[in-house]
Amino acid sequence: MAETNNTVRVAFIGLGAMGQPMAGHLIDAKFDVSGFDLSPEARESLRSMGGRPAETIVGALQDADIAITMLPNGKIVREALLNENACDALKPNALIVDMSSSAPNDTRQLADLLASRGLRLIDAPVSGGVKRAIAGTLTIMVGGAGSDISEAEPLFSTMGGQVFKTGPVGSGHAMKAINNYVSGAGVLAAIEAVILGRAFGLEGETVVDILNSSSGKNNATEVKMKQFVLSETFASGFALGLMAKDIRIAADLAKALGLRLETLSGTADAWDSAQKALGPSEDHTRIFEYLKNLA
Ligand code: NAD
Repeated sequence: MAETNNTVRVAFIGLGAMGQPMAGHLIDAKFDVSGFDLSPEARESLRSMGGRPAETIVGALQDADIAITMLPNGKIVREALLNENACDALKPNALIVDMSSSAPNDTRQLADLLASRGLRLIDAPVSGGVKRAIAGTLTIMVGGAGSDISEAEPLFSTMGGQVFKTGPVGSGHAMKAINNYVSGAGVLAAIEAVILGRAFGLEGETVVDILNSSSGKNNATEVKMKQFVLSETFASGFALGLMAKDIRIAADLAKALGLRLETLSGTADAWDSAQKALGPSEDHTRIFEYLKNLA
C-alpha cells in the first residue's frame, strides 16, 4: 500500500477504463484509497497502483468518508450501493460522489433514498475520455449542495482540470447527457461527411483536414476522425453502448420535459440501432462501419 498522509478515506467503486486512472491520481495525491470492481484484474491494478482492493463492495466501503462510483450507469450504481445494504458500511453521514454518467431523475431519487439513510449524494460526471482521465485533466460537472461539493473539491482537483457547479443534485448528470448528445451528433455528422465526400471522389483525409480548417470542425473531426476512424484502429476507449446510453438519457429527459427535439431523437435512434447491430462493447467510433453499410 502507498504511504498516505491524507486522513480522508476514499472508496472507489468501478475501476474500468476511466475509474482506474482516476483512482490512480487519488493514490498519487496520498489519499487512502480502497476499491472494488467485479473484475479481478481491475482489483489487481488498484493494488499495483498502491491502493487497497477489497473482495466485496462492502469491504471497500467499510468506514470510508467518501465513496466514488464510476460504473456503467445509474441503475448499476443504485444496485451496487443498496444491495445487501452495502452503503451502510460507510461512515455515518458519508458523502457519495457518482462520477458515472447516470440518468438525472434516477439520481435525484437515489439522493433522497440515501438521505433517508443518513448519507449524502452529489453527481459529478466527467468529460474528456480516457486520455484526459490519464492526464488528470477531466472536465467535471457537479450537481449538489455547495458544502458537499467543497468537501469533494480536493479529490476533484487531483482528477480534473475544470470543475463546473451546475446546480442541485442531478444537474451534473443532466449536463453530461446534453454534452454527449452534442458530441454523439458531431460524430455522426463527421462520419457521414467522410462517407459523402469519398462517394464523390474526395479523399477522407482531405475532408477531415478541410473541416478542421473550416466552420464544420467539431471534437470528432479534431480528435477522433483521423486518430480512430480513418486509421481504422477504433480504439478511443469509449464504448458504443455507453454513448448510446448517454444520448438515450438526453432523449428521455427531453420527453419527460415535454420537449420535441427532432435531431436529438434521431441521434438517439441512430446510436441505438448501431449498438444493436455491432454490440455495446465495440468502440463507439466503429459506428463508422455501421453507417457505411447503411449508406
Ligand atoms: P468500463 O466498462 O471500462 O468500466 C466500468 C467498470 O465497472 C468495469 O471495470 C466493470 O467491471 C465495473 N463494474 C460493473 N458493474 C459493477 C458492479 N456492480 N460493482 C463493481 N464494479 C462493477 O467503463 P468506463 O469507460 O470506465 O465508463 C465508466 C463510466 O464513465 C460510465 O458511466 C461512462 O458512461 C462514463 N464515461 C466514460 C468515458 C470514456 O471515455 N470511457 C468518458 C466519460 C464518462
